[in-house]
Amino acid sequence: MTKGNINVSVENIFPLIKKFLYSDHEIFLRELISNATDATLKLKHLTNVGDAKVEYGNPQIEIKIDKDGKKLHIIDQGLGMTAEEVEKYINQVAFSGAEEFLDKYKDSAKDSGIIGHFGLGFYSAFMVAEKVEIITKSHQDAPAAHWTCDGSPEFTLEASDKTDRGTEIILHIAEDSTEFLEEGRITSLLEKYNKFMPIPIKFGTKEVNDPDFTPKTTKDEDGKETTEPHKQITVDNIINNPNPAWTKQPADLEDQNYKDFYRELYPMQFEEPLFNIHLNVDYPFNLTGILYFPKMSNDMQIQKDKIQLYQNQVFVTDNVEGIVPEFLTMLRGVIDSPDIPLNVSRSYLQADGAVKKISSYITRKVADKLKSLFNNSREDFEAKWNDIKIVIEYGMLSEEKFFEKADAFALYPTVDGTYYTYEELFNKIKAKQTDKDDKLVILYASDKDAQHSYIESAKAKGYEVLLLDSPIISHLIQKLESTKENITFARVDGDHIDNLIKKDETTISKLDEDQKKALDELLKEVIPAEKFMVQLEAMDSDASPFIITQPEFMRRMKEMQATGGGGGMFGMGNMPEMYNLIVN
Ligand code: ADP
Ligand code: MG
Repeated sequence: MTKGNINVSVENIFPLIKKFLYSDHEIFLRELISNATDATLKLKHLTNVGDAKVEYGNPQIEIKIDKDGKKLHIIDQGLGMTAEEVEKYINQVAFSGAEEFLDKYKDSAKDSGIIGHFGLGFYSAFMVAEKVEIITKSHQDAPAAHWTCDGSPEFTLEASDKTDRGTEIILHIAEDSTEFLEEGRITSLLEKYNKFMPIPIKFGTKEVNDPDFTPKTTKDEDGKETTEPHKQITVDNIINNPNPAWTKQPADLEDQNYKDFYRELYPMQFEEPLFNIHLNVDYPFNLTGILYFPKMSNDMQIQKDKIQLYQNQVFVTDNVEGIVPEFLTMLRGVIDSPDIPLNVSRSYLQADGAVKKISSYITRKVADKLKSLFNNSREDFEAKWNDIKIVIEYGMLSEEKFFEKADAFALYPTVDGTYYTYEELFNKIKAKQTDKDDKLVILYASDKDAQHSYIESAKAKGYEVLLLDSPIISHLIQKLESTKENITFARVDGDHIDNLIKKDETTISKLDEDQKKALDELLKEVIPAEKFMVQLEAMDSDASPFIITQPEFMRRMKEMQATGGGGGMFGMGNMPEMYNLIVN
């Protein structure tokens, strides 16, 4: 028997990093800009606490493409590194200088926004580069250093004549990654990942109107006015907004600021959001963000503008599944939290305690906001109901906690456009609409036009008829019937309401016994009994000479069968269709 150690050498790690570290090669740029941002934020912190004796100034990060030289440059004016620090931070794979920094400065740096974590980000550069150079000058009084590595474990470290503080990373882009030398490709990456990062990022220059120049207007002898062209100046093209709305205090923002930010997030979206919810917690987890209720039509449209997840202002993903409860994934906006463990699988995420807390916090905030909108401006809330009901009803179905809160503001509109809360509806109909077992009967229509005569006949008797037409309403009805005591829903064209609702006086049909018998026989002749079972009943309304209804249980069983809900259990296949013919 031989025993030994498997030899893991760094030589084997590079190809692995290159292939598997990140499935998306494009994130190298996000990682390097994150490091440049960290270097700048660290310097800011050091100057704040007096540990760096330099002027912080207005540092920015610059991205430059050198197409001919096949190079991409990422340049920052952050704290820089001495040669010793390069040895320490860069040559040790998986040693994070960011974590070390946070450890050292603890509480004072807690809110500094430092991004780095695992000490692996830098090496993602080798996913797209065949050679990487670092030229860096520390804020401390030390010579600048120049590190070069071609992806093998060998590196060179020599002195450099760089004089200004900060770090320049030079990527010699590999043959298979030349897409990253295209201006368009880099622009779209910056747009995607870095749009709201905290340090200004410059990518090229752009022409803008000179703000100090007012074009002169002159009149010729015919009185025709001509205005001279605006003077253009060249300025840095800053691709990001370092202070996005969600990083500010709600008290410092006006309604218009929220709308503007919505447009910033979704430049292609022209609908205004209905309202927003500003999230802001720092205990027991850190989370900021702004959620928007978009205008939503009845047919749950698949949306491509989704909630975006950030960590310290760096875009991570727009797949928030597992972090935000499912019914809220229909919303839009931003969530920013350094506390979401994103390096784990989604199924693990759902079980993670911190993530569960985040999810229930968001649910609660959304419910509270809806409640306050309802309380403060009922009219406005009603006007928006059609656009927001899908989210609310879906939430009531899927989250018990949300159901409990939403019960106070979920609305049930009538066919005539009155909106009741459940409690209001209950009080309104309890005296009149109960069945023989004293169960409350809630009448509803799903289609105002198709069920018109049924609606009219119910209204003529003084009943309230709701208009419930959401795609998920049948599920919500079941939920309400099982949650609320002693109620039942009945569609207006279901069982005849005179048989449903307990009445004081007995109903009398205008037909006498002989007429009824004759009609009954006639029906049996024309309608095959094995297929349709028709029952003759009396009605005491003048609304129409007769109506045909289908018993509620029958309709629901058919619905269940149609949706594969096991109605087959009842042997519906052999059962004749059942209708009631109700004659005046
Ligand atoms: P992390 O950012 O998770 O700490 P990285 O692999 O991205 O790990 O970077 C390793 C370390 O290298 C950083 O923590 C930092 O100390 C140093 N470093 C990387 N880029 C820069 C830079 N632009 N300026 C100064 N230090 C840097
Ligand atoms: Mg990093």
